[in-house]
Amino acid sequence: MKISMNDFVASVDLGGTNLRVAAVDDGGTILDERRIPTQVERGRDDVIERMCDLILDLSSDLRKKKRRLAGVGVGVPGLVYYHRELHESPNFPGKGYFPVKAKMEKILPVEVIVDNDANVAALGEVWKGAARGFRNASLLTLGTGVGCGIVLEGKIWSGTRGTAAETGHMIVDPNGELCNCGSYGCAETYASAPWVVRRARAAADRGESAFLKKLFRENDKATAADIFRLARTGDPASRGIYQLVGWALGIVIANLTNVLDLEKYIIGGGVAKAWGAFAPFMMREVFARSYVYRAEKMPIVRSRLIDRAGLLGAAHMVWQRLGR
Ligand SMILES: [Zn+2]
Repeated sequence: MKISMNDFVASVDLGGTNLRVAAVDDGGTILDERRIPTQVERGRDDVIERMCDLILDLSSDLRKKKRRLAGVGVGVPGLVYYHRELHESPNFPGKGYFPVKAKMEKILPVEVIVDNDANVAALGEVWKGAARGFRNASLLTLGTGVGCGIVLEGKIWSGTRGTAAETGHMIVDPNGELCNCGSYGCAETYASAPWVVRRARAAADRGESAFLKKLFRENDKATAADIFRLARTGDPASRGIYQLVGWALGIVIANLTNVLDLEKYIIGGGVAKAWGAFAPFMMREVFARSYVYRAEKMPIVRSRLIDRAGLLGAAHMVWQRLGR
């Protein structure tokens, strides 16, 4: 397909709650954006069909403005093999491999490229966000899990099969707690939202904080944000939990620095809102554990694009494939 100035690509952010689609031009302008509930309980094929319908609707509306769909990029949580198949996705449950690319290309008239949601978000930050102008950077997203994407020489580093940058499962304490992945003491067991809550609940049960005890007594669904509020008001137990978040992230970034010597590290996701409570400990830990970092400090900053990083990154991945 010969690419013209009026072409756009459709990018998809397939989240657990919402499925978002954007039309993005090669300069990174979002021409249109739509969202529907993901409703994964209706089954994986149903999600694929509704996602493709949304893309087709979007491109038929833009065709009236003389714009043509040139490709589709999809960011999805979980392990994505060879830009094609999904395996073990928390937001897209089902047994075995699921050929996202093949299923979508049966419905859509253009090529579809699939990658992990954190990988595409990292590329988005390099293209238009906190790492704009850099070629080597990493994004860590602190949410339900700890997602990570690594961009090397301006492109997503996907590894051999597509599953690289699972930094959330970097081991920060070999004798730590059992993680969902089957290992122990992964970064995710410190720096993800469910684990912040879990550690806070354990501290409340041990009688370490009257504030936490009260919080969980009044609200069984208390979140990481509630615990951040307590940390800010000075509750030592809540502060200790965010200190652990910073400690774990610091170890991860020290390891990344020692191995890859990146130019910039970006922290995003819901838990990143508690920056003030964990960042000083993170910085201290990176400094203590990486002589590469001590030799020349590389910036560690907050995400700029927040919830648009994935949409922009998935679009940029397609533009790169199209030679832009
Ligand atoms: Zn793990």
